[in-house]
Amino acid sequence: MIYLDYSATTPIEDSVLETYINVSKNFIGNANSIHSLGIKSKELLNSSTNQIASLLNIKPTEIIYTSGATESNNLALKGIAFNYKNRGKHIISTPLEHSSVSETLKYLESIGYKISYVKVLDNGLIDIENLKSLITDETILVSIGYINSELGIRQNIEEISNILENYPKTFFHVDGTQAIGKINVDLNNIDLFSFSSHKIYGPKGIGCLIKKDKISLIPLMHGGKSESPFRSGTPSLPLIVSLAKALRLSLENINQKYEIVNNLNNKIKENLKKYNKIMINSNENCIPHILNISLSDIRPETFIHAMEEHEIYISTKSACSNPNVPSTTLKAMNKDDSVSTTSIRISISNKTTLEEIEKFNEIFDQVYNDLNSIKGE
Ligand code: PMP
Repeated sequence: MIYLDYSATTPIEDSVLETYINVSKNFIGNANSIHSLGIKSKELLNSSTNQIASLLNIKPTEIIYTSGATESNNLALKGIAFNYKNRGKHIISTPLEHSSVSETLKYLESIGYKISYVKVLDNGLIDIENLKSLITDETILVSIGYINSELGIRQNIEEISNILENYPKTFFHVDGTQAIGKINVDLNNIDLFSFSSHKIYGPKGIGCLIKKDKISLIPLMHGGKSESPFRSGTPSLPLIVSLAKALRLSLENINQKYEIVNNLNNKIKENLKKYNKIMINSNENCIPHILNISLSDIRPETFIHAMEEHEIYISTKSACSNPNVPSTTLKAMNKDDSVSTTSIRISISNKTTLEEIEKFNEIFDQVYNDLNSIKGE
């Protein structure tokens, strides 16, 4: 099997799974219980929270554990919208966002919030001047994904956060789900930051919303105070400890791992050069972990299933999007329908081997030529 859908989810790292099992077996107490088993669990919980905080250079109190990035994004957007509605009801975002942001914004719009979308340049970067012109006294939040999940476009978050520093009443939320563990992130000027464990070889079912202490939110889950007043529910100690470990491992040698992925990405692109009908949509602003291409006249589902017959797993534009609808990302970049409806996503890990990519290239050629010859018959 050759797995090239790491942006959809990653397999859990063996040592992280061992941690999960170990904590599940040996720390049975509820971290909120006052007896010694609870205290033992609470101590481990605190040490994992401190570890995450030090890895991300934030305070332990700024971490809210969630079930994943979908919940983190919902909590950030609705939490701010509901808490600061008396200040204003205007939110700015982009057409490049994951559905857990875009659908939440549509919901907020349906209940009276005004949502503005920043213009996107043809190269996928947002138009910073347009962003500045959209901000008003009513703008309570700007939400921009660090790395787009379809093409891998990396926004200039540092530049944007520096600009937003001039607007102290406007909070800045960044969906960092595709960024964490792949590139170095600096959370210094970011007010809210979402990410998920299952994209960094951690277990599925846990994520974080980093929320700076100066900000308050209306929680989505009401209940006991638990680990955070902003998210009730018994903290899942095995998931939290595993997340801390997965995060630590994902940040180790991050620059070397980036280079490995970059070389593998180049090997695929090199092979694709010979096909004049294939468009490479990921450009110089994209991270190498995601390679999005359009096949022009082959349906993406047909191609993906044909590759699957050879046990090669790739994706349509993104795992959480509707395959029958043109890609909003490609449309925002002014690509025509033949490109925006035929894209596929190959996503690479530093664990991917050169042999796997060579095999992938070989099977790609075979499947692409076979499908083209069937069309020609
Ligand atoms: N944001 C982005 C950019 C994503 O890629 C994903 C996962 N596809 C999510 C949010 C949602 O994450 P989760 O699956 O943890 O809810």
